[in-house]
Amino acid sequence: MRGTFLQYTRSLAMFVLMGFLALLPVAVGAEALDWEALETETVSLLSRYLQVDTSNPPGNEIRAAQFFKAIFDREGIEAKVFESTPGRGTIYARLKGDGSKRPIILLNHLDVVPADRRFWSVDPFGGVVKDGYIWGRGALDMKGMGILELMAMLILKRQGIPLKRDVIFLGTADEEAGGTYGVGSMVREHFDLFKDAEFVLNEGGWIALRDGKVWYYGVTVSEKTPFWLKLTATGTPGHGSVPRPDSAVNKLIVALHRLMNYQTPLKVVPDVQRLYADLADLEPPERRERLKDLKASLQDPAFAAEFTKDLVANARVRNTISITMLEGSNKVNVIPPQASAQIDTRLLPGEDPEAFLEELRRVIGDDSIRIETVLSFPPSASPIETELFRTIAEVAKKQDPGAIVTTYFPTGFTDCHFFREKGIPCYSFIPMKITDQDLALFHGNDERVSVENVKFGTRMLYEIVRRLVY
Ligand SMILES: [Zn+2]
Repeated sequence: MRGTFLQYTRSLAMFVLMGFLALLPVAVGAEALDWEALETETVSLLSRYLQVDTSNPPGNEIRAAQFFKAIFDREGIEAKVFESTPGRGTIYARLKGDGSKRPIILLNHLDVVPADRRFWSVDPFGGVVKDGYIWGRGALDMKGMGILELMAMLILKRQGIPLKRDVIFLGTADEEAGGTYGVGSMVREHFDLFKDAEFVLNEGGWIALRDGKVWYYGVTVSEKTPFWLKLTATGTPGHGSVPRPDSAVNKLIVALHRLMNYQTPLKVVPDVQRLYADLADLEPPERRERLKDLKASLQDPAFAAEFTKDLVANARVRNTISITMLEGSNKVNVIPPQASAQIDTRLLPGEDPEAFLEELRRVIGDDSIRIETVLSFPPSASPIETELFRTIAEVAKKQDPGAIVTTYFPTGFTDCHFFREKGIPCYSFIPMKITDQDLALFHGNDERVSVENVKFGTRMLYEIVRRLVY
């Protein structure tokens, strides 16, 4: 289209101005990037990464670590592969800053849960891109986020702008099985590599959608902690034809029955209170007032009964007990000398595992039952008064002015606890818009992430990191 002379002069002036701004990369920042090309690159990298089978067990994360190493080497980013035990690889890469601020760690796990091909409509390790989605085991949990973190590293490096802090990329083994051979081993054996970090960004929270619209930005700062226990009962063995009231199995059943009926006390930790208070305004009026002071509201038995009917809400306001594994005789006509059960108990942040164990002993009321700890680590939380939390909130409000940014509180746990135990704040936030249908795909069949989400996430994660390093 032809323009007037005035329009022409204006656009010429604009052209000159833009050229001048391009010489000031700090001022221009993200605007100077070719986002379309970067988004295409992200999608293709994720597709390739999903083809690396890291099903845990056995893991074989070394393949994924080498996948990343090759990319970092090509881009001139210092990177190293660690192998905690044969096949269990972790990738560590670092972009150097000027040291005026302490490092940030971009954490992701390389392993995925297994996928049963029979229930998938595509090859779970084919990296298929179709119908607007990138399909494959790990697309959401959490190879997608791993690639967003990789892209943030690549963009920063290519921009060549001096950084105020180091950016560490840490892709680890074994998260899906507790992290012993991944973050656990890195923290135990190589803590010097990142002991100076100011904070960690990991998987966990996300942008929750309701009715197709953004509901809230959920950043996880604390989690329930597993406290797995094994109960063993002993008794006189014998023939099944002569029942014994004091058999090991009977004693165990009595103990488990008491635990099953036990209602642990209701407790509202600050992060849970904040979550419900922040979301209260979107609720109907009677419920709104109740949620604003959840602790007080739960004193009312009628409200407490209604609130805890939602099993996830229930698990957020108390320590929980799930009886999951049982072992008695291996023959129907033999009364065994021993019977055992494992229970999956989960503690709220700030709880004392020893005190909870005492509480359970009281409930069981039978000192002959032996209780051993199978897994326990100290319940911990990260403070929200950090530059990372503020930055996530700022970026969220910039793209979504009315957005609610709150502390999403999960009932499960991630590798974050390894860092929290060392005093390094760790937040879980995947910058993707996640629906209830997406949630069902975590560990599910036909796991996939939308291309739209990957593009959006690449930009949002880069924007968060950019604000922290420039
Ligand atoms: Zn995960």
